[in-house]
Amino acid sequence: MAEKFNAVKGTKDILPDDSSRWQTLEQTTHEFMNRWGYGEIRTPAFERTELFTRSVGEESDIVSKQMYTFLDQSETSITLKPELTAPVMRAYLEHNLDRGGALTKLYYIDALFRQERPQKGRLRQFHQFGAEAVGSPYPEQDVEIIALAFSLMEAMGVANPLLQLNSIGSRECRQRFRNALVEFLAPHSGDLSETSRQRLETNPLRILDTKDEGERAILKDAPRILDFLDDTDREHYEAVKVGLDTLGISYEQNDLLVRGLDYYSQTTFEITSDALGAQNALCGGGRYDDLLEELGGKPTPAVGFAAGMERILLAIPEESAADSVETLKVFVITAGEKAGTAVMKTTMNLRANGIPADFDTLNRSVKAQMREANRQDATHIVVIGEEELASGTCQVKDLATGKQQSVPFKELFKHLTSV
Ligand code: AMP
Repeated sequence: MAEKFNAVKGTKDILPDDSSRWQTLEQTTHEFMNRWGYGEIRTPAFERTELFTRSVGEESDIVSKQMYTFLDQSETSITLKPELTAPVMRAYLEHNLDRGGALTKLYYIDALFRQERPQKGRLRQFHQFGAEAVGSPYPEQDVEIIALAFSLMEAMGVANPLLQLNSIGSRECRQRFRNALVEFLAPHSGDLSETSRQRLETNPLRILDTKDEGERAILKDAPRILDFLDDTDREHYEAVKVGLDTLGISYEQNDLLVRGLDYYSQTTFEITSDALGAQNALCGGGRYDDLLEELGGKPTPAVGFAAGMERILLAIPEESAADSVETLKVFVITAGEKAGTAVMKTTMNLRANGIPADFDTLNRSVKAQMREANRQDATHIVVIGEEELASGTCQVKDLATGKQQSVPFKELFKHLTSV
């Protein structure tokens, strides 16, 4: 026998039993985004590698070790997208979506690819939905984006979502903070992990994310980014907090929350859930006022978020993602050879009228068809045999009540929808 294949490590099939939960998340996302005035954007699965090195930053974990990169036939370096903000901003610039300086609000639902060490809630191909609001430098826009992310988590059934908030200021103030942090950590470098020692050289702000207890103890006395903000950043941050208070969205200030990517400035935030283990971040985002210029556009302020869909599904109870509404589902049973065509026609008619319906294409016995109807959680069975054909009726059985009655074909739809 030929070798059987399995999915590549860190990737997952989403099977029919799970996909209704995915569909519910996707529908909620589409509904919310449309209601909040965001338009859907879909970008290709891969981009030129340089788009990510330039925007996300050479020293970030994503660019330095997680990208799936290859040369295509014309020797162009291509990367499967490891994040979505850069591709969406590339498309924004390419198609002049700024519409003469107006605000542009975009959202996406997409798959992305990172070569991380797989574990619970951490995959190599995973899915995010997210939103980007491009064109406003004002705190009201940060508040709207955060409120959108937070409301979505609540609507999807995440229990006790926790919003963590910080400001990392402008590029200049971050540079001053970076110098101060390196100066503070250098004498402790012997007590740092190998990874953090490397980060001290390449991306010292990432050390603030450490989960290592010893390192956290050292960081207690480290300089705080909030002390390095200038007046503009400070006012912006205060206004974001006032906006969230007005909307009744509570938050925790976490001045260690710097996020790993180069392009963030001022507001950063994360939504976590204690329903998850070590990988407890459901959603992350922030302001990225320097990115569009970095990608060759005019300086344009922007703010956005991305939420991990696999993690959300882990953080909500099974039934809250599934469609719990009892819906009509009909299985049409063939009782006798001649009834086959009528069964198929009846099924198609029900489907055309919006009723989920199915029939047997395996030539099975009536008993086996009944079992199939049960397996499919049918609410009703419709039986058509030679007798029924002759009298222009069918037998309809409500499987919840056990009630069975003879219904003329013409009245089948009315009968099913009136019960
Ligand atoms: P990021 O793009 O890194 O800011 O991540 C945003 C969200 O995507 C996180 O809060 C997670 O919920 C999710 N996420 C990030 N990396 C992974 C991964 N490797 N596997 C599954 N979900 C992920």
